Amino acid sequence: MPYTLPALPYALNALEPHIDAKTMEIHSQKHHAAYVTNANKALEGTAFADVQAEVMITRLAELPEDKRAVVRNNAGGHVNHSHFWRILAPAGNGGGGTPSGDLLEAINAAFGSFDQFKAQFADAATKRFGSGWAWLCWHKGDKKLKVCSTANQDNPLMGGALAGCEGTPILGLDVWEHAYYLNYQNRRPDYISAFWNVVNWAEVARNLAAAKA
Ligand code: MN
Repeated sequence: MPYTLPALPYALNALEPHIDAKTMEIHSQKHHAAYVTNANKALEGTAFADVQAEVMITRLAELPEDKRAVVRNNAGGHVNHSHFWRILAPAGNGGGGTPSGDLLEAINAAFGSFDQFKAQFADAATKRFGSGWAWLCWHKGDKKLKVCSTANQDNPLMGGALAGCEGTPILGLDVWEHAYYLNYQNRRPDYISAFWNVVNWAEVARNLAAAKA
């Protein structure tokens, strides 16, 4: 089955004022749609046309060399954006506030406190040079959450050797300029601060539970 663009779980203007409707529209209907189209075009007729995108990005080395970069970028973009829409929710209506339960315990164990985690994540997001993502990942081996960042549309699932960041991502933040420039221009730190108001911690907690399973 070819990849398909998922419907957003909220209205385009639901994340305002933190993420504006025009940005959401262009980001989902143009940028994400292009990743889907280009990934499908690259995989059409290959042995990987039926492989799920989350699995495909862990098997890039199996692709013919002339397909690897385009699938890395576009299947990566599809996985990353599908994740991103799900971990967002309208402020005060599923978005913002603080994590609780297992997720909060894991954050406290790894970073000392929720505030220290936020500072470390914001630092990774701010310092990512050019286009990329900041991630909170569960590391199964040492049973610990870690923060890292990737370039372009790389995803920690691609592995440390490729992405420079590994583990199972449970929270990702898109810091490409296309994610914030209409509203925040060059003020990436303001976009990162606003992001905390629309994080769907219940979804992040589900991601952690799935990563641990
Ligand atoms: Mn994006």
